[in-house]
Amino acid sequence: MKMAIDTIQIDGAQGEGGGQILRSALTLSMITGTPFRIEGIRAKRRKPGLLRQHLTAIEAAATISGARVEGAAPASQSLVLMPGAIRGGDYRFAIGTAGSCTLVLQTVLPALWFADAPSTLTVSGGTHNPAAPPADFLIRAWLPLMRRMGAVAELELLRHGFYPAGGGEVRARVAPSRLVPLELCQRGELRAMRAQAIVAAVPGNVARRELEVVARGFSGIDTEIRELPQREGPGNALLLEFEQQQVTELFTGFGQRGVSAETVADRVVNAARAWLASGAAAGEHLADQLVLPLALAGGGRFTTCAQSSHLATNVAVIERFLPVTALIEPAGAGWEVSIANRD
Ligand code: AMP
Repeated sequence: MKMAIDTIQIDGAQGEGGGQILRSALTLSMITGTPFRIEGIRAKRRKPGLLRQHLTAIEAAATISGARVEGAAPASQSLVLMPGAIRGGDYRFAIGTAGSCTLVLQTVLPALWFADAPSTLTVSGGTHNPAAPPADFLIRAWLPLMRRMGAVAELELLRHGFYPAGGGEVRARVAPSRLVPLELCQRGELRAMRAQAIVAAVPGNVARRELEVVARGFSGIDTEIRELPQREGPGNALLLEFEQQQVTELFTGFGQRGVSAETVADRVVNAARAWLASGAAAGEHLADQLVLPLALAGGGRFTTCAQSSHLATNVAVIERFLPVTALIEPAGAGWEVSIANRD
């Protein structure tokens, strides 16, 4: 007789109270084969409940793991997912708005490392959204660390999509992988510093002014203006990249109506400075995106400049699905996060 597996109850309002609680639960439910029920989805967001991005992540999870789903409707605050086996294949999902492709991709990529065959995964929607990792961040900062952990994956940005128009596309090629723990306590020597100002249907002087602020903040930095075809806009992103021996960090700002190019650039420069001053390896965003893969690998350690509520909340969700414990302790001017198997 097949034993019933207990359903894990997740509180979507805990800690950060955002979409990451749902996305991490989807990923871990697929991989562990454990059903879950979540209530209070995105309870602490201005528009609580499921948006297009989350509905697409649920659809993607359900498709690749043959799951049964209840409650997947716009604005719904509760959901049940009962996963089946994860199957490799050729998958394509469209968000239909500027909702973040990268967050959908990050939800299902780890599951495809546990599939029975290689996959391709194409997601269309927003690729450069405020409050989400831009595609460049996944490609240059997150993915190289996943590869170092043994993950087989390639990621391509096919077309930019900015908020609010969307219309971007990312594609991943993934193969079943065996993850090994990551040790990332030093960032290592600086190899390159680059700044790229991307503009699509936005005046070129915006990019030039952003890069002037960056060049004043970091002498010797390589700067580049990237002008995209008008049809990929309107949009503007400023990417500030530090390629270190052990890690590449990428800080991003987005042009916004009513906010000067100088202000956008100042914010990015300040975020990068805070990370540089801490001496830690991972920035705030990379930190909360590393804990799930580390837990899947059975452990690991890294330093970070900030102990964010995304980090603490993600750890709490992960500990519900996997037999791991995470310790977040002060280390130098930052924090050290260590994850180990619980026994
Ligand atoms: P949530 O707010 O719960 O939907 O989660 C948003 C996710 O996007 C978190 O993993 C954040 O670390 C990540 N994120 C937000 N802004 C950035 C950024 N500028 N660069 C990289 N990741 C980001």
